[in-house]
Amino acid sequence: MKKTYNFYLVQPPEGAIFQAKVNDTVITAYKSGKVLFQGKSSQLEANKWLNESSVYQQLNKDVPYISDETVAIVKTSHIGSDESGTGDYFGPITVAAVYVKEEHLSDLVQIGIQDSKKIADPIVKKLAKEIITRAIPYALLTLENKKYNYLQRSGWSQGKMKAMLHHHAIRLLLDKISNQYFKGIVIDQFCTPNVYKQYLRSENEKPIENTYFETKAETVSVAVAAASILARARFLKELDRLSEKTGYPILKGASHEVDKLAAKIIHNKGEAMLNHCAKIHFANTKKAKYLVNKDLL
Ligand code: MG
Repeated sequence: MKKTYNFYLVQPPEGAIFQAKVNDTVITAYKSGKVLFQGKSSQLEANKWLNESSVYQQLNKDVPYISDETVAIVKTSHIGSDESGTGDYFGPITVAAVYVKEEHLSDLVQIGIQDSKKIADPIVKKLAKEIITRAIPYALLTLENKKYNYLQRSGWSQGKMKAMLHHHAIRLLLDKISNQYFKGIVIDQFCTPNVYKQYLRSENEKPIENTYFETKAETVSVAVAAASILARARFLKELDRLSEKTGYPILKGASHEVDKLAAKIIHNKGEAMLNHCAKIHFANTKKAKYLVNKDLL
């Protein structure tokens, strides 16, 4: 049970094995075997533990299998990296790497650092500011659309772009923190470790030692969660910039609404504008052109 709440643990009161704060619920497990759920959504949280099968479902849904090495790493000073914008037609890819010292872990959890996908945009922006004001060391890279499209045309897969961005962000961060201790590096897994290494080698880069890949790493590593927030905040900022540049409020995602917006941009600003604000190889481009050609704007 403690493992499930790994990421939400707070200082336990006397006689307790652990205490966790999940949103507005406080879970306290006592040495006696009693577990107390308190707060607004306490019943909901407690229900997850009512029978073993639901516990199993819960574990599979929210808490992925994490290797023992990673569990040991995320409990102490470590580095985490994550990216944003990869599934969005408009806007760049951003990647952040963050170094969190052991003494900052609980503070970051307390202020609400968690997977940016679970947080509304305005809060993501606010939390990014909080991370930065705390002087948490980080490196943040943006792959702008023009460069993205160029690399894509030269044969780079999006996976390779991500791999190189993660690698460079981590290297930049390592330079920044020079010789400060960290137990390991956790990357939110987007390809197998072997493929990652192949991408690096194809650009004559050496994989960095002590790097671990975990799916849903942002649920167990505060550093990955913080990285997800910094990357997302930068991505959102870039969308604001592109809204100004194009004169249209730029949308996230890759929906039909996005097709229609791209069609408007092609119609009013010319197709070349997409090179500066969109990932052109996405199917949205074709769909947008169809809308323009058929006069379906
Ligand atoms: Mg990720």
